[in-house]
Amino acid sequence: MPAPIYLDNQATTRCDPRVLAKMLPYFTEHYGNASSKTHAFGWTAEAAVGLAREQVATSLGAQTNEIMFCSGATEANNLAIRGTALAYQSRGKHLVIAATEHLSVLDCARALEAEGFRLSLVEVGADGLLEPASLVAALTAETTLVSIMLVNNEIGVIQNIGALADAVHDYNDELVFHCDAAQALGRVAVDVGPLGVDLLTVSAHKVYGPKGVGALWRRRRPRLPLQPLLHGGAHEQGLRPGTLPVPLVVGFGQACLLAAEEGAADEARIALLRDHMLEQLTTRLGGIELNGSRSARVAGNLNIAIEGVLAEKLIPRLQGLAVSSGSACSSADGRPSHVLAAIVDTARAQRSLRMGLGRFTSEEEVAQALDLLVAAVKAERG
Ligand code: PMP
Repeated sequence: MPAPIYLDNQATTRCDPRVLAKMLPYFTEHYGNASSKTHAFGWTAEAAVGLAREQVATSLGAQTNEIMFCSGATEANNLAIRGTALAYQSRGKHLVIAATEHLSVLDCARALEAEGFRLSLVEVGADGLLEPASLVAALTAETTLVSIMLVNNEIGVIQNIGALADAVHDYNDELVFHCDAAQALGRVAVDVGPLGVDLLTVSAHKVYGPKGVGALWRRRRPRLPLQPLLHGGAHEQGLRPGTLPVPLVVGFGQACLLAAEEGAADEARIALLRDHMLEQLTTRLGGIELNGSRSARVAGNLNIAIEGVLAEKLIPRLQGLAVSSGSACSSADGRPSHVLAAIVDTARAQRSLRMGLGRFTSEEEVAQALDLLVAAVKAERG
C-alpha cells in the first residue's frame, strides 16, 4: 500500500532533508558534549550549538542569551508557566489563560490549580479569537501570569498577541505574558519585539526540524525570575540542566534559518492550496463550514465541519489520507476537543475534521486528497 497523503502538518512536520543533512555529522564524527571545555570534541559541539542559538534567536528577533533550549514546546510551556507561577507566588497566585490553549499549557495550569493557585480560563469568540477587553476583565491584583498562544494548533486562528500583551501590560506592567508560538514559527511573523511578550515557546518539529527539541525565549531586560523544573547543573542559565542534544539543536537552528528564508513563500503557496481545497469541497459536496476565523488564520490549516457525517465514521474510510478529527494530543484519549467545544456545539464538533497542509504538500496530493475525501463523504452520506 502506498503511504497515505500527509495532511497532518499541525501534529508534526516532516524533517526537511536539508535539516537532516546538517544534523548527521553531529551523530557521527562530531559527537562531543557541548559542555566539555578541555578538548576539540567539546569545542566543535559548543560552536555548533552557538550557531544554532544564533539562528533560533534571529528567527525570533531575539538575542542569543535569551534562548534556552529544552526538549520541545511541552517542556518550554511547563517551564514558563510553573517556573513563573512559583517564582512569583509571593506576589500573587492567580493565572490567566485562554480556554483554547494547548494541553501542555492547560494541564500545567490545572496542576498548579490543584496545588493552590487560582486559574481563570478566558472564553474566546465564535471565531476562536480573544478580545483584549475579555482578557483584561479576568485580571486581578493577584494575577502574576497570562499565557495566550499565537496560532491555535486545531483551528489555526492567529491571536492578536501584540494587542493582548499591550492590554495586559497596560493593566499592570509587572504581569508576565507568556506566548506559546509552537504553531506560529515559520508560518507567521514571530518577532518578540512587536509581540511585546515576556516569554515565548517554540518547537523544532512544527517547523520541519527534528522532534525532541524546542526553546523558551525569555526577555533579558528586565530579567524575569523563573524557577527551574529540573535540577542538575548550570546549563541553559541554570534553568534547564542536562547535556544538550547537539544534533537536534543543530537541526533546530537550520530549520529556523530555512523558515526565515523560505517561510513567507511557503505560506503563500500553501494558502492557495488550502483555499482551493475549501472551494472544491464546498462546490463538490456542499454543507461545509469552516471552524474558526477565516481571515485571522494560518495558511496550512483547514478545520471544517461536514454536514451529515461523523468524523469518527469518516476517518476509517480515509485510509489514503493522514488527517485528524481534533488535535493529535487529545485524539489519543478520545476526549472531545476542548478547542472545538469552546467555539461550536458538540454535534458540529463531532462532524469536524482537521487537515494540515505544509511545505511538502504538492498540488497533485491535494487533487488526490480531494477525490478521496469527496468519495468518502458521499459514501458516508449514503
Ligand atoms: N503547543 C502547541 C500549540 C502545539 O501544537 C504543540 C504540539 N502539538 C505543543 C505545544 C507541544 O509541542 P512538543 O511536541 O514540542 O512538546
